Amino acid sequence: MSERHDVIVLGVGGTGSAAVAQLADRGVDVLGLERYDVPHDGGSVNGLLRPLRLTDIEDPADVSLLRRAETLWRDLEADHDRRLLYRTGSIDTGPRGRSLVEEAKLACEEHDLEYELLSGEGLTDRYPAYRLPNGYETVYQPEGGFLRPAECVVAHVNRAHRLGATIRARERVVNWRPLDGGVRVETDHDAYEADRLVVTAGAWTPAFVDALDGIVTSERQVLTWLQPETPGHFARDRFPIWRVQTPSDLFYGYPTDSAPGATFGRSTNRNEVRDPDAFEHEPTQADERPLREFAREYFPAGAGPTMRMESGLAITTPDDRLLVDTLPEHPQVAIGVGPSESGFAYASVLGEILADLTLEGETDHDVERFSIDRA
Ligand SMILES: Cc1cc2nc3c(=O)[nH]c(=O)nc-3n(C[C@H](O)[C@H](O)[C@H](O)COP(=O)(O)OP(=O)(O)OC[C@H]3O[C@@H](n4cnc5c(N)ncnc54)[C@H](O)[C@@H]3O)c2cc1C
Repeated sequence: MSERHDVIVLGVGGTGSAAVAQLADRGVDVLGLERYDVPHDGGSVNGLLRPLRLTDIEDPADVSLLRRAETLWRDLEADHDRRLLYRTGSIDTGPRGRSLVEEAKLACEEHDLEYELLSGEGLTDRYPAYRLPNGYETVYQPEGGFLRPAECVVAHVNRAHRLGATIRARERVVNWRPLDGGVRVETDHDAYEADRLVVTAGAWTPAFVDALDGIVTSERQVLTWLQPETPGHFARDRFPIWRVQTPSDLFYGYPTDSAPGATFGRSTNRNEVRDPDAFEHEPTQADERPLREFAREYFPAGAGPTMRMESGLAITTPDDRLLVDTLPEHPQVAIGVGPSESGFAYASVLGEILADLTLEGETDHDVERFSIDRA
């Protein structure tokens, strides 16, 4: 006889840890299965920090969803012995009239968010780390901030443990199949049965849901931490999270926190990782070169010696929005995927939605725009 649970959660990363905690909180017997460590940096929970940013929301409903996510993060933090969320404000800057600044302005106007428009010089006056070319314009939004993703996973898993959940790390799910009234899940250790399955396998999701092959894709993104010459300019109480559009690229970064140095990353949108098992973890000098060149030009006081580098799997969906749904042909299976643009920020509320869909078959959150067949 296989061990039987009410719900199995496949993948205990950013989204899966939230789902396990939410399900345990509702009194069900939940088993979380994770192939690596809890947490680990070989998936999408790498890089020490994740932004929580309101300036790239597209829909009025996204505002309430993100605010709900923030409430849930705060609630989790109140239960945990380390801080999870910092509010720093957010900066979106680029050549006047180009997409990043225009879209940030539009998001603030349309969704009634507080913001300030700053010139390049105005930005440098307030935050001396910046050196922008002429003609740059900036949107400062005071509610932005960052999360500590690995710490968030730990906090969700600790909460789930307190509520009686079982989580097994270093146990890889090999496959699942529907049963009459449930599912059977086979791992490289054992086999389990449950009434319901939640698939939160991030970049590996298409391996378990054929319909998402080519829909959920991923790319290798590298971050570098550079020692600042003037550390005070990059301190988290004085330096908001940021995105900078250059004539050819989009860069992003965070203040100093959890590791020495300020963080620099680049959104590439290459979707080049065909097999997440075969992706090259070790960052190279070639990975760092464009980040360092960018830092030298736009943050000259931040481009000191390298402190750290990391690569991760940034997940993409065709419209870069969340995917959360039950499988039409197997309603006992729910899936939740957060893309790299915003996936972690929403992970807490995705856990809540997945628990709703799994236990009630519906949710009060407006999620039709995140359905599998929306395309
Ligand atoms: C470089 C980078 C930049 C990002 N930028 C942002 C950003 O700006 N804003 C933002 O909000 N988010 C960002 N994200 C994305 C965010 O981190 C993810 O959306 C978030 O971590 C949620 O991911 P997930 O839970 O879907 O995947 P993961 O956290 O990777 O979790 C999936 C889990 O499933 C496990 N798993 C897979 N296969 C199996 C199996 N066979 N058996 C058992 N377990 C399995 C994996 O090991 C993993 O732990 C970024 C991610 C990266 C990598």
